Amino acid sequence: MTIYNFSAGPATMPAEVIQEIKNDLPSYKNSGMSVMEISHRSALFEEIFQKAQQDMRDLLKIPDNYQVLFFQGGCTLQFTAAPLNLANKYHRIALLDSGHWAERAGAEAKRVGVKVDVLDSSEKDHYTKLPSLEKLQKDTYDYLHITTNNTIEGTAYTQLPNTDTTELVGDMSSNFMGQRYDVKQFGAIMAGAQKNLGIAGLTIVIVRDDLIGKVPNLPSMLDYQLFAKKESMFNTPPVFAIYAAGLVLQWLKNQGGIDEMEHRNRQKSGLLYDFLDNSKLFEAPVIKKDRSLTNVVFVTGNPEIDQQVVSQAAESGLVNIKGHRLVGGMRASLYNAMPYEGVEHLVDFLKNFEKNYRG
Ligand code: PLP
Repeated sequence: MTIYNFSAGPATMPAEVIQEIKNDLPSYKNSGMSVMEISHRSALFEEIFQKAQQDMRDLLKIPDNYQVLFFQGGCTLQFTAAPLNLANKYHRIALLDSGHWAERAGAEAKRVGVKVDVLDSSEKDHYTKLPSLEKLQKDTYDYLHITTNNTIEGTAYTQLPNTDTTELVGDMSSNFMGQRYDVKQFGAIMAGAQKNLGIAGLTIVIVRDDLIGKVPNLPSMLDYQLFAKKESMFNTPPVFAIYAAGLVLQWLKNQGGIDEMEHRNRQKSGLLYDFLDNSKLFEAPVIKKDRSLTNVVFVTGNPEIDQQVVSQAAESGLVNIKGHRLVGGMRASLYNAMPYEGVEHLVDFLKNFEKNYRG
């Protein structure tokens, strides 16, 4: 039986990449060593590293005046690092509360003494839509933090909020590389690798040059300027995770790049949303214009039926469709590596479930 893994992260990876990892495992490029065993200072790794960075620049069209930094500590550590590095003038940031991860980002910023103003929240709507931004007060905030894709609640920005003179900082963890955004519209972007870019252990930060180096004596492991200067090798980087990301980036290039991925992700999510919108049993609670392409949330309204859906789906090879505990119901994560057939199977399964349920 083919298994389709709809996990929100760590998540399914392209089959071709898994195969390459298997091939490389015993001896990388005839070195007699696995990638797990090579030094981060070796020529072998240097090549992996440079290529991964360049491929990311090409795919995302990252302008030259932006740094691409590789960190550990997950995106959660960036909720601390970003305010430490970037909230250095007003010590105050703005936040659009679109759900759990936005709230977590705000909470961590407060812990390092930065004031956080929540300009709008969609909590009252159970996060089934995005908060909106009326106007940003000039000269008040170091930046506005948004979560471009809300992994748990299933919303995503297609149109970015107009921030005028304030910098925009985006947590792009769950739609990084899955949909096209213009990097120039952001002061900084952060994203964990374990959804669309390979395995856990690597976090990407893309940040504009002029925003960094303003705060002396930051803890070294959180210092954007230091990581830029040391080319992300201030200490031992996550070698294997960078290698895996490099393979995924090459795969992305071979598949046609980000625009092709967005096209496919629209097709995949469209297939599922169309079914849900026409179903009498299932419902997608998120309003149409704010729906995520990568995390599709749906419910029956009855937790017992939801439970049956999740377990019967797993028996059919459609694994990890249980919704996040904060939201309940079901969630299908359709990252780049999820093939269209996987979504077809899921829709067929849901159709059958509905038919049998109605008797
Ligand atoms: N931001 C978003 C949008 C996420 O989905 C997640 C994790 O799922 C995080 C941040 C936290 O990432 P990490 O677990 O890498 O710290």
